Amino acid sequence: VSRVIPVDTFDLVIFGGTGDLARRKILPGLYRRFLGGQMPQDSRIIAAARSDMSDDEFRAQVRAAIEEFVAADKRDAAVIDEFVARISYVAIDATGENGWAQLKDTMRDGVIRAFYFSVAPSLFGAIAERLSDHGIADPQSRIVVEKPFGRDLASAKALNAVLAQHFAEEQIYRIDHYLGKETVQNLMAVRFANILFEPLWKAQYIDHVQITVAETVGVDGRGAYYDTSGAMRDMVQNHLMQLLCLIAMEPPYHFDPNAVRDEKLKVIRALDPVAPEDIVRGQYLKGGDQDGYVAHSGNPHSRTESYIALKVHISNWRWKGTPFYLRTGKRLRARASEIAITFKEPPHSIFDDAEGWRENVLVIRLQPNEGMNLMVMIKEPGPGGMRLTQVPLDMSFAEALGEEGEDIPDAYERLIMDVIRGNQTLFMRGDEVEAAWAWADPIIEGWERRGDRPRGYEPGTSGPEDALMLLHRDGRRWREIR
Ligand code: NAD
Repeated sequence: VSRVIPVDTFDLVIFGGTGDLARRKILPGLYRRFLGGQMPQDSRIIAAARSDMSDDEFRAQVRAAIEEFVAADKRDAAVIDEFVARISYVAIDATGENGWAQLKDTMRDGVIRAFYFSVAPSLFGAIAERLSDHGIADPQSRIVVEKPFGRDLASAKALNAVLAQHFAEEQIYRIDHYLGKETVQNLMAVRFANILFEPLWKAQYIDHVQITVAETVGVDGRGAYYDTSGAMRDMVQNHLMQLLCLIAMEPPYHFDPNAVRDEKLKVIRALDPVAPEDIVRGQYLKGGDQDGYVAHSGNPHSRTESYIALKVHISNWRWKGTPFYLRTGKRLRARASEIAITFKEPPHSIFDDAEGWRENVLVIRLQPNEGMNLMVMIKEPGPGGMRLTQVPLDMSFAEALGEEGEDIPDAYERLIMDVIRGNQTLFMRGDEVEAAWAWADPIIEGWERRGDRPRGYEPGTSGPEDALMLLHRDGRRWREIR
């Protein structure tokens, strides 16, 4: 039975409350937390956005969002009525003066004030400034900022600096929704609450690590924006980097926000520069009646990558010699995110069946079907003699946790509750984000300087052929995307 720990009463302001992210993730997520009894009855949500509209008009939008994005068996008419009654709307101009006095009047004293910046990062500074100038934020208030956090080191530093003018680091929650995933947190539990894995968790026993985030969607709809970013900025610098950190970090002395983030930061600082031959970039081609990347981006000469694969080295005692292969892309064969940790061969084989033997692999699956699998060797059942076969030790959470396991909260819901609790463990610290850009910048500058063009790849495949070579060259192969 899942234990729901209610959080303290809050007033949550969502800047950009009428936007796509609020509609798809934030508001449906808050509804589920309300349904689950975690959001206190006397908490309130205040949406702030540019358009003029009444509370009731906005509530109707929230109802529609719940209808669209919450599973039918979780939609309870009476609960939805109670939920929307706690929502109000303020028309506000982030860069002007309209609406701020009204917002101030709406906020209550004696409850936690949280402000979710679900708007373009170019507005972060203006909003932070007005929250503090109007005395709307107090020293206990929290702000939540969305990605992208900068597009390079200079812009990330500028964003950090503008936020720091009005808020202390302890008040700033930089969201990376990958960290809110159940499996990602389980990765830490598996590593640090068991003795089984940690003694083997090093270059001596781990052959290599693969981190894959594959998407089937293209960039249609947001192609113009995406063309200014690309897979390295949009996915690797943040999401894949965070996963890499959690695999590679040293055990923190305590499961405490700064202890964990200190260890992650050390990993990022230990990353080697990546050589040009260890980078493969791709762009999806036209396929069937589906447009290719250049049509979606609206830029026929675009050199932006919709796919990237990298071989990454961590120069420290634990990892020297164990490559981390990262890849992510759009319009690939399947929507699948996983981390696969491949162990080395046993030092000596006592069995004749060399052919049947496979390496142990710990597969951590983020989506779909969150869970873990440990691939182990056993004897093939039956009278065939000592023949070897590999089977998964399945740690699928939904199964292990029974009915309740199926109700794993979405990453956004969990992270918003962490904000209210004041727990920053699963949020990126300013120095972490800057260190990740300091690593990414020269890689990006390198291909821009060389004028490298991404390789075309057929949609519905596992990406450009060259990416296969990145591993073949080392006598390894990518796991199948499925
Ligand atoms: P959106 O364009 O759908 O919505 C933008 C919102 O900002 C609207 O509510 C709009 O009214 C408001 N807004 C714009 N200018 C304003 C101003 N001057 N004053 C007040 N309000 C103003 O954007 P989105 O997709 O919801 O994204 C919001 C943020 O979340 C962005 O930083 C985006 O990068 C990030 N993000 C979005 C997604 C997603 O899936 N949509 C995923 C990850 C991160």
